[in-house]
Amino acid sequence: MQFSPSMTRLRYLTTTCAVCGESCRFTIPPGAVSAGSRDLDTRPAEPLRSTIYAWVKRCPSCGYCAPDPGKALAGAADAVRLPRYRWQLDARGFPDIANTFLCWSIIQEDLGAPAQAAWASLHAAWVCDDEGEDVPARVCRRRAADLLQRAREQDERLAPLEGADEALLVDLLRRTGRFREARAVAARVLDQDPQPLIAGIMRLQVRLIAASDRGAHTVAEARRSRQPTPL
Ligand SMILES: [Zn+2]
Repeated sequence: MQFSPSMTRLRYLTTTCAVCGESCRFTIPPGAVSAGSRDLDTRPAEPLRSTIYAWVKRCPSCGYCAPDPGKALAGAADAVRLPRYRWQLDARGFPDIANTFLCWSIIQEDLGAPAQAAWASLHAAWVCDDEGEDVPARVCRRRAADLLQRAREQDERLAPLEGADEALLVDLLRRTGRFREARAVAARVLDQDPQPLIAGIMRLQVRLIAASDRGAHTVAEARRSRQPTPL
């Protein structure tokens, strides 16, 4: 994790794990806000961006992963015992923090909250991006895209803004290299005359897809591209 000197005063949270009852202590970074443009998949700018390691915590005793391990929804303790949860907890090939997010994602999925599960899977992808782990990042994004679609089938959305879920889906598909599917979603949304921000994002996505660009880009680039091109 990278911290500027002004951010090194860490605090600690001591809590009792709601699943196993063990006492655990976690590092809490100072409150941070996003100071620049978000990425197209909503990833915040620094310094908030680098606090990601603390968004979800893992009980070192039982492996329960949650934003606050001191709390557990009904059924969470059962999810922690699922074989696929135990496998994911220490899955080789994924960064440890990505495994923590993916375990939280499995709990949310098991409890019937696909939208929350999708967010956790996307956050796992960001951790993989930071570690330069391209294959696991694609696995996380594929899982996030599947969960987003499942959420839609249940009339659940990841974000309230009209067209935002579709914008997120296009980015997930593009960044996993599924360009044809990404272009089809972008074209469908553009056909529906979306609001200017979403239209700008979709037009940027169409250009990135045409260039086979799988990289991270910001919402600011989409805003800039809304300006009419001078002749
Ligand atoms: Zn525990």
